[in-house]
Amino acid sequence: MQVWIAKVVVLAATVALIAIRAPHGQRSRTVRTAKSFKGRLEKALLILAWFGFLVPLVWLASPLLAVADYPLRAWPFAIGCVLLALGLWFLQRSHADLGTNWSITLELRENHRLVVHGIYARVRHPMYLALFLHSIGQALVLPNWIAGPAYLLTFGLLFVLRFRAEERMMLERFGAEYQSYMARTKRLVPGLR
Ligand code: SAH
Repeated sequence: MQVWIAKVVVLAATVALIAIRAPHGQRSRTVRTAKSFKGRLEKALLILAWFGFLVPLVWLASPLLAVADYPLRAWPFAIGCVLLALGLWFLQRSHADLGTNWSITLELRENHRLVVHGIYARVRHPMYLALFLHSIGQALVLPNWIAGPAYLLTFGLLFVLRFRAEERMMLERFGAEYQSYMARTKRLVPGLR
Protein backbone atom coordinates (compact mmCIF):
# COMPACT_ATOMS: atom_id res chain seq x y z
CA MET A 1 0.00 0.00 0.00
CA GLN A 2 1.10 3.54 -0.74
CA VAL A 3 2.10 5.69 2.23
CA TRP A 4 0.34 8.78 0.91
CA ILE A 5 -3.01 7.11 1.74
CA ALA A 6 -1.94 6.83 5.39
CA LYS A 7 -0.82 10.47 5.31
CA VAL A 8 -4.20 11.62 4.00
CA VAL A 9 -6.04 9.63 6.71
CA VAL A 10 -3.78 10.84 9.57
CA LEU A 11 -4.12 14.45 8.44
CA ALA A 12 -7.89 14.20 7.93
CA ALA A 13 -8.42 12.57 11.35
CA THR A 14 -6.25 15.19 13.08
CA VAL A 15 -8.07 18.06 11.37
CA ALA A 16 -11.43 16.47 12.27
CA LEU A 17 -10.40 16.10 15.94
CA ILE A 18 -9.37 19.77 16.11
CA ALA A 19 -12.54 20.85 14.26
CA ILE A 20 -14.76 18.93 16.71
CA ARG A 21 -12.91 20.26 19.76
CA ALA A 22 -12.26 23.90 18.80
CA PRO A 23 -15.80 25.34 19.12
CA HIS A 24 -16.29 23.60 22.50
CA GLY A 25 -12.94 24.90 23.71
CA GLN A 26 -13.92 28.41 22.73
CA ARG A 27 -17.33 28.16 24.40
CA SER A 28 -15.88 26.69 27.61
CA ARG A 29 -13.40 29.55 27.89
CA THR A 30 -16.33 31.94 28.33
CA VAL A 31 -17.29 30.15 31.58
CA ARG A 32 -15.14 30.99 34.59
CA THR A 33 -13.12 28.38 36.43
CA ALA A 34 -14.27 27.99 40.02
CA LYS A 35 -11.45 25.73 41.19
CA SER A 36 -8.38 24.32 39.51
CA PHE A 37 -6.70 21.02 40.41
CA LYS A 38 -3.91 21.45 37.87
CA GLY A 39 -0.83 20.46 39.82
CA ARG A 40 2.74 19.99 38.61
CA LEU A 41 2.20 16.38 37.50
CA GLU A 42 -0.92 17.33 35.53
CA LYS A 43 0.96 20.18 33.82
CA ALA A 44 3.83 17.86 32.83
CA LEU A 45 1.39 15.21 31.55
CA LEU A 46 -0.45 17.78 29.45
CA ILE A 47 2.77 18.97 27.84
CA LEU A 48 3.77 15.36 27.15
CA ALA A 49 0.38 14.56 25.59
CA TRP A 50 0.65 17.65 23.37
CA PHE A 51 4.07 16.47 22.31
CA GLY A 52 2.67 13.02 21.47
CA PHE A 53 -0.12 14.66 19.49
CA LEU A 54 2.36 16.71 17.44
CA VAL A 55 4.87 13.93 16.59
CA PRO A 56 2.60 12.45 13.83
CA LEU A 57 2.50 15.92 12.26
CA VAL A 58 6.30 15.98 12.19
CA TRP A 59 6.17 12.62 10.37
CA LEU A 60 3.65 14.09 7.91
CA ALA A 61 5.61 17.23 7.19
CA SER A 62 9.25 16.14 7.23
CA PRO A 63 11.59 13.18 6.61
CA LEU A 64 12.93 13.50 10.19
CA LEU A 65 11.42 10.22 11.44
CA ALA A 66 11.84 8.23 8.20
CA VAL A 67 14.35 5.84 9.83
CA ALA A 68 11.47 4.33 11.81
CA ASP A 69 9.15 3.83 8.80
CA TYR A 70 7.82 0.34 8.00
CA PRO A 71 5.63 -0.92 5.12
CA LEU A 72 1.94 -0.10 5.30
CA ARG A 73 -0.34 -3.16 5.37
CA ALA A 74 -3.98 -3.29 4.33
CA TRP A 75 -5.53 -4.95 7.42
CA PRO A 76 -4.06 -2.81 10.18
CA PHE A 77 -4.78 0.21 8.02
CA ALA A 78 -8.44 -0.76 7.54
CA ILE A 79 -8.98 -1.53 11.26
CA GLY A 80 -7.21 1.73 12.16
CA CYS A 81 -9.57 3.71 9.90
CA VAL A 82 -12.60 2.18 11.62
CA LEU A 83 -11.18 3.00 15.09
CA LEU A 84 -10.39 6.58 14.03
CA ALA A 85 -13.94 7.06 12.76
CA LEU A 86 -15.41 5.56 15.95
CA GLY A 87 -13.15 7.71 18.10
CA LEU A 88 -14.21 10.89 16.32
CA TRP A 89 -17.85 9.96 16.69
CA PHE A 90 -17.43 9.33 20.45
CA LEU A 91 -15.52 12.59 20.78
CA GLN A 92 -18.30 14.53 19.09
CA ARG A 93 -20.93 12.85 21.30
CA SER A 94 -19.07 13.42 24.56
CA HIS A 95 -18.29 17.07 23.78
CA ALA A 96 -21.95 17.66 22.92
CA ASP A 97 -23.08 16.09 26.23
CA LEU A 98 -20.43 17.76 28.42
CA GLY A 99 -20.98 21.24 26.95
CA THR A 100 -19.27 24.07 28.83
CA ASN A 101 -18.44 21.76 31.76
CA TRP A 102 -15.52 20.54 29.64
CA SER A 103 -11.97 21.63 30.19
CA ILE A 104 -8.72 20.21 28.90
CA THR A 105 -7.38 19.82 32.43
CA LEU A 106 -8.64 19.12 35.96
CA GLU A 107 -10.84 22.02 36.91
CA LEU A 108 -14.36 22.81 38.00
CA ARG A 109 -16.36 25.55 36.30
CA GLU A 110 -18.62 28.07 37.95
CA ASN A 111 -22.05 26.41 38.22
CA HIS A 112 -20.48 23.11 37.20
CA ARG A 113 -23.14 20.53 36.42
CA LEU A 114 -22.62 16.82 36.80
CA VAL A 115 -23.43 15.34 33.40
CA VAL A 116 -25.00 11.87 33.64
CA HIS A 117 -27.05 11.80 30.44
CA GLY A 118 -26.37 10.81 26.85
CA ILE A 119 -23.12 8.97 26.38
CA TYR A 120 -22.25 9.74 30.07
CA ALA A 121 -25.12 7.48 31.16
CA ARG A 122 -23.06 4.50 29.95
CA VAL A 123 -19.48 5.31 31.01
CA ARG A 124 -17.79 7.95 33.16
CA HIS A 125 -14.98 8.74 30.73
CA PRO A 126 -16.34 8.54 27.18
CA MET A 127 -14.02 11.33 26.02
CA TYR A 128 -10.99 9.38 27.18
CA LEU A 129 -12.44 6.31 25.46
CA ALA A 130 -12.74 8.42 22.29
CA LEU A 131 -9.10 9.50 22.55
CA PHE A 132 -8.01 5.89 23.14
CA LEU A 133 -9.88 4.76 20.01
CA HIS A 134 -8.35 7.66 18.09
CA SER A 135 -4.81 6.99 19.27
CA ILE A 136 -5.02 3.20 18.75
CA GLY A 137 -6.43 3.89 15.27
CA GLN A 138 -3.57 6.25 14.57
CA ALA A 139 -1.00 3.68 15.76
CA LEU A 140 -2.44 1.18 13.23
CA VAL A 141 -2.80 3.59 10.32
CA LEU A 142 0.53 5.37 10.61
CA PRO A 143 3.41 3.09 9.48
CA ASN A 144 6.17 4.50 11.66
CA TRP A 145 7.38 2.99 14.96
CA ILE A 146 7.81 6.40 16.62
CA ALA A 147 5.05 8.61 15.19
CA GLY A 148 2.46 5.80 15.08
CA PRO A 149 2.20 5.05 18.82
CA ALA A 150 3.39 8.50 20.08
CA TYR A 151 -0.05 9.79 21.01
CA LEU A 152 -1.25 6.43 22.35
CA LEU A 153 1.71 6.24 24.75
CA THR A 154 1.58 9.85 25.95
CA PHE A 155 -2.21 9.99 26.23
CA GLY A 156 -2.23 6.55 27.88
CA LEU A 157 0.14 7.86 30.54
CA LEU A 158 -1.99 10.98 31.03
CA PHE A 159 -5.08 8.80 31.49
CA VAL A 160 -3.45 6.35 33.91
CA LEU A 161 -2.08 9.12 36.10
CA ARG A 162 -5.15 11.37 35.87
CA PHE A 163 -8.41 9.47 36.17
CA ARG A 164 -8.17 8.79 39.92
CA ALA A 165 -7.47 12.45 40.65
CA GLU A 166 -10.37 13.42 38.37
CA GLU A 167 -12.78 11.08 40.13
CA ARG A 168 -11.57 12.36 43.53
CA MET A 169 -12.19 15.92 42.36
CA MET A 170 -15.70 15.03 41.18
CA LEU A 171 -16.42 13.19 44.46
CA GLU A 172 -15.26 16.20 46.45
CA ARG A 173 -17.53 18.51 44.45
CA PHE A 174 -20.61 16.32 43.89
CA GLY A 175 -20.45 13.90 46.86
CA ALA A 176 -23.24 11.31 47.00
CA GLU A 177 -24.45 12.28 43.53
CA TYR A 178 -21.13 11.24 41.99
CA GLN A 179 -20.89 8.22 44.26
CA SER A 180 -24.17 6.83 42.97
CA TYR A 181 -23.14 7.76 39.41
CA MET A 182 -19.95 5.72 39.95
CA ALA A 183 -21.97 2.81 41.29
CA ARG A 184 -24.13 2.57 38.16
CA THR A 185 -21.54 3.23 35.44
CA LYS A 186 -18.35 1.65 34.14
CA ARG A 187 -15.19 3.67 33.87
CA LEU A 188 -14.29 3.38 30.20
CA VAL A 189 -15.96 0.53 28.32
CA PRO A 190 -19.74 -0.04 28.55
CA GLY A 191 -20.50 -3.31 30.29
CA LEU A 192 -16.85 -4.07 30.92
CA ARG A 193 -14.69 -1.74 33.02
N1 SAH B 1 -13.34 12.26 31.99
C1 SAH B 1 -14.40 12.76 31.16
C2 SAH B 1 -14.26 14.25 30.87
C3 SAH B 1 -12.93 14.64 30.30
S1 SAH B 1 -12.71 16.41 30.28
C4 SAH B 1 -14.51 11.95 29.89
O1 SAH B 1 -13.56 11.24 29.58
O2 SAH B 1 -15.52 12.02 29.21
C5 SAH B 1 -12.17 16.68 31.95
C6 SAH B 1 -13.08 17.58 32.74
O3 SAH B 1 -14.41 17.23 32.57
C7 SAH B 1 -12.80 17.47 34.24
O4 SAH B 1 -11.87 18.40 34.64
C8 SAH B 1 -14.17 17.72 34.87
O5 SAH B 1 -14.27 19.08 35.24
C9 SAH B 1 -15.16 17.47 33.76
N2 SAH B 1 -16.00 16.30 33.97
C10 SAH B 1 -15.62 15.01 33.97
N3 SAH B 1 -16.68 14.19 34.12
C11 SAH B 1 -17.77 14.99 34.22
C12 SAH B 1 -19.17 14.77 34.38
N4 SAH B 1 -19.69 13.54 34.44
N5 SAH B 1 -19.97 15.85 34.42
C13 SAH B 1 -19.49 17.10 34.34
N6 SAH B 1 -18.18 17.38 34.19
C14 SAH B 1 -17.34 16.35 34.12
